[in-house]
Amino acid sequence: MTTIELVGVAVDTRHYIGGERVASGETFANTSPIDGTFLGDIARGGAAEIGAAVSAARAAFAGWAAMGPQARGAILHRVADLVEQNLETLAAIETLDNGALLRSHRRGVMPRVAHNLRFFADWAINELGHPDLDTRGHTNHVSWDPSGVAALITPWNAPLMLATWKIGPALAAGDTVVLKPAEWTPLSASFFADLTKQAGMPDGVFNVVQGYGDEAGAALVAHPGISRISFTGSVPTAKTIARAAAENLTPCSFELGGKSPCIVLGDADLELAASLAVEQYDNAGQVCLSGTRILVHESIATEFMEAFTAKAAALTQGDPRDPETDIGPQIHQTHFDRVKGFVDRAKAEGADIVWGGEPNGELGGLYFRPTLIANPAPGSEIVTAEVFGPVLTMQTFTTDDDVVALANGTDFGLAAIVVSGDRDHAELVTRQLVAGTIWVNCFFVRDLRAPFGGSKKSGVGREGGTWSFDFYADIKNTVFAPTGWKTATIEGSTHG
Ligand code: ADP
Repeated sequence: MTTIELVGVAVDTRHYIGGERVASGETFANTSPIDGTFLGDIARGGAAEIGAAVSAARAAFAGWAAMGPQARGAILHRVADLVEQNLETLAAIETLDNGALLRSHRRGVMPRVAHNLRFFADWAINELGHPDLDTRGHTNHVSWDPSGVAALITPWNAPLMLATWKIGPALAAGDTVVLKPAEWTPLSASFFADLTKQAGMPDGVFNVVQGYGDEAGAALVAHPGISRISFTGSVPTAKTIARAAAENLTPCSFELGGKSPCIVLGDADLELAASLAVEQYDNAGQVCLSGTRILVHESIATEFMEAFTAKAAALTQGDPRDPETDIGPQIHQTHFDRVKGFVDRAKAEGADIVWGGEPNGELGGLYFRPTLIANPAPGSEIVTAEVFGPVLTMQTFTTDDDVVALANGTDFGLAAIVVSGDRDHAELVTRQLVAGTIWVNCFFVRDLRAPFGGSKKSGVGREGGTWSFDFYADIKNTVFAPTGWKTATIEGSTHG
C-alpha cells in the first residue's frame, strides 16, 4: 500500500526523494491519538534513503541557488497558494495525525503555514541586506549566499507549522532541503510534498524521508553532504545530534524545551492572569512555549486560584474534531505514560492536586485531565523538568527578587509571561529574566520579523527575519577597492 485514503484524499506513505515517491522495504504503523485508529503503514527510511535524498538535494542545489530570490519566491508563493487551497484537507490530516484541535488548524495554524512561506520568500527579496560599509574608500558588501543542503528535523506537536519555520527560510535562502518529520506525525509533510510538486518546485529541491529518529534522523545529521542542521525537539536528542554534527562541523540551530514561568505580580488583573494561565493548556500542554510554572504573588494567591478554577471548569475535553473541544488527547501512549508519571510522582511527594491530576476516565485513551499542582516540593522534577502535557504548577512568592530567582531557577530559558497592571513594574522584572521571548499581559504573539529561540538549554541560535537567513546562508563580505585602485593594499593600512 503506497497511499492511504484519509479525509477524502490520498496521502502518500512513501518518502519523497528527487521529485519521486520512493518506498522502503520496511514500514512502521501510524495511529491516531484521537481514538487509536490505525491510519496506515509508513515507509521506514534509513541510511540508504537518506543517502539518496541528500544526493538528490545536492544535485538540485546549483540550479535552485542560481535562480535567485525572486524566482524562488514565486514558487514558494505558489506553494503557499496551494496550502490555502488545501487548507481544510491539511487541517483535517494534521488533526487526525497529532490530535490537536481542528478549529485551531483551520483558523490559525494552516493559514500560518502559508504565511511562513510567503514571509520568508518576501524577506529574501525585500529585506535581506546590510548597508555597505566604507573602510577608507573601500566598500564592504555583505551578501547571504545559499549554503547547500539543509537537514530539517521536526517534532510532532505542530508538525507542518514548525516545519515551515525552517522550510521557508531554507528554501528562500537558496538551500535545498531534506526534511525528516517526527515518526508520530508523518502525514502532513507527505501531503505538503505533493503541493511542492504541483507548484513547480524543481525535483530534488525539497525532499522528505520518513522514519525513526535513531535511524533516518541519525543518518541525516551524520551525513557529510549536508551544510546545516535545524532541529526542534528535546534536549537529549539535541545533544546526540550535536555530537554527530561535530564530526563534520555542521552548524546547528536548536529550538528545544522549556519550563517557562507565568508570573502574576501583585498588581495584576486577576481575570487576565487567570485567562492567560488557562491558555497554557493549549494543545493539551504539548507546546514548548507554555508557561507551565505559575508564580503568583502571595497577596492574591487565593483570589487567583478561584479565578483560575472557574475558568478551568469551563474547559471542554474531547475529540479535537469537535468545535466545542478545548483540550484534546496526548500524542501517543508513550508520551501519555510519561506525563502521568510526572503527576503521580509529584503526588507521592506530597504536592496538592488542585485540579485534574489523572487521566480523563470518561474519555479513556490518551486524554489526560488539565491539571494544576500546588505546593510542589521546591526544586523537585515537577517544577524543573519539562512535562509537555496539560500540567501546571503553582508557587507563591513575596518579593520581586524571589520571583526572579524562582523564574530563572531552571536549566531552561525559552519564554516567560508576566502579568502586571504596571508597565514599569513589569519591565523591572522582565529585565532580569533569562528567556528568548517574554510576553507581558499577553501570550503567543509571534511576529516573524522578531527573533525567536531559547536561552540556556532551551536552544542554540535564533530564528525570524534575518536571523533565520544568518543561519541557513553563507554570509559573505566582499571588499571592493576604491575605483581606480589597481595596486595591492599596503599591509596594515585598511583596518576599519
Ligand atoms: P520528542 O521528545 O519531542 O519526541 P525528540 O527530540 O525525540 O523529541 O524528537 C524530535 C525529532 O527528532 C523527531 O523527528 C525524531 O524522530 C528526531 N530524532 C530523535 N532522535 C534522533 C536522533 N538520534 N538523530 C536525529 N533525529 C532524531
